Amino acid sequence: MGIISAESMLNKAFQNGYAVGQFNINNLEWTKAILLVAEELKSPVILGVSEGAGKYMTGYKTVVAMVNAMIESLNISVPVAVHLDHGTYEGAKKALDAGFKSIMFDGSHYPIAENIEKTKELVAICKKMGVSIEAEVGAIGGEEDGVTGNGELADPEECKTIASLGVSILAAGIGNIHGKYPANWKGLNFEVLRAIKAKVNETPLVLHGGSGIPDHMVKEAISLGVAKINVNTECQVVFAEATRKYIEAGKDLESKGFDPRKLLAPGTEAIKQVVREKMILFGSVNQA
Ligand SMILES: [Zn+2]
Repeated sequence: MGIISAESMLNKAFQNGYAVGQFNINNLEWTKAILLVAEELKSPVILGVSEGAGKYMTGYKTVVAMVNAMIESLNISVPVAVHLDHGTYEGAKKALDAGFKSIMFDGSHYPIAENIEKTKELVAICKKMGVSIEAEVGAIGGEEDGVTGNGELADPEECKTIASLGVSILAAGIGNIHGKYPANWKGLNFEVLRAIKAKVNETPLVLHGGSGIPDHMVKEAISLGVAKINVNTECQVVFAEATRKYIEAGKDLESKGFDPRKLLAPGTEAIKQVVREKMILFGSVNQA
């Protein structure tokens, strides 16, 4: 079937009280690991591609071609979306040209009027193309590919305005942070999430920075309208840990242990385990 828009899988999740995980990809190993687990657990899945990761993989066209080919060669039957993560205005257009069926336009760093104007334009283009579009209100804390945020809490009125433009899904800052969570982190702000949910009504919400939020908070967020949760850092951390262990144990020096297919295997397995745990936690298992 190939990659599809994320709209129907997210509406279904929203209506049935679970969330679909967005797992960011960086290369072939990442992509293969995530797709295999999605198929194993019969879960819909979203592969996130930041602009930096897109460049790293030599461009959006490569990403689309790789994922479509892998869906075929691995016999993946579950719904798969490839989603531009934190796209700029120009990046969003490039991803659309390359065949992405799902994009995020992150206009949160613009003054709200400009965010509205640009989101509106991209919504019109996406609707015509049958592409799902995520918009953002209120920067997410931490740093992702140079897009910095102050961890501000989104204004529910602004969320209502952006949601009413017809976006498929809405990301709103509720105290969540990209990257590792600091020890003194205050947790998600459910009061703000409730206020946003009341204003945006039927628009599914997105929780960024899904690595390291305690499970009970994740579940509460899902019960309050979050239907997409982004996981990135956690996969990177476990991949690095498993690879370090392999090298520290001297396994790359034994026999053909330097073969990249062997060297990268423990990290790839570690990613699979994180994806499994998250899909179970988010409730998307057997929802394909
Ligand atoms: Zn994000």
